[in-house]
Amino acid sequence: MSPTFLRRTVSPSVAGSPRVGILALQGDVREHEHVLQGLGADTVRVRRPEELNAVDALVIPGGESTVIDKLSRAFGLREPIRSAMRDGMPMLGTCAGLIMLADTVTDAVGGQETFGGLDVTVQRNAFGRQTESFEVELDVPVLGAPPVRAAFIRGPVITDVGPGATILAALADGRVVAVEQGVLFGLSFHPEITGETRFHERLLAAAMR
Ligand code: GLN
Repeated sequence: MSPTFLRRTVSPSVAGSPRVGILALQGDVREHEHVLQGLGADTVRVRRPEELNAVDALVIPGGESTVIDKLSRAFGLREPIRSAMRDGMPMLGTCAGLIMLADTVTDAVGGQETFGGLDVTVQRNAFGRQTESFEVELDVPVLGAPPVRAAFIRGPVITDVGPGATILAALADGRVVAVEQGVLFGLSFHPEITGETRFHERLLAAAMR
């Protein structure tokens, strides 16, 4: 599936600085807030549809995708998020957030659903247990030098990339760990905990387009 993104009217909170929502149901919300505020963006914790309506872009943090899935349905956010995506809202998902943005998930817990949007298949927990977390220097050609310091914490791997999505980065062994599709960005790792700001800058740039 290759969604067509409609042009969306952006209403920057202050001239030149978009208002970015962070889905705050569960996960590493504060780390994303810290990065975004450091870049001069206004941030809003999104737990209700009204809060989603007030933002120009959305970050879906890392955490536990099964929990984010359940809570997004319980809080009535699932359909509003899908609808905002159809209307062209830029979104960045890291780790569990990437899972939520993937059209297809393998090794999902029974009944687990995603918002979808990225024409990819991700495999949950593909790197093994929490203790097998690791950091690498990752070359991301669209970002140029220096390489990205990427922290992997029980992250998913992108096992299939459909024609709608573009690969942004792969590990040395070829496993894909970052993609973009229009104004949607999905990362297997956590840039927000290693001081990496360039993916968030890309999200802000998409919100300003
Ligand atoms: N393993 C988690 C999940 O399946 C993702 C881990 C993370 O976000 N750091 O949702």
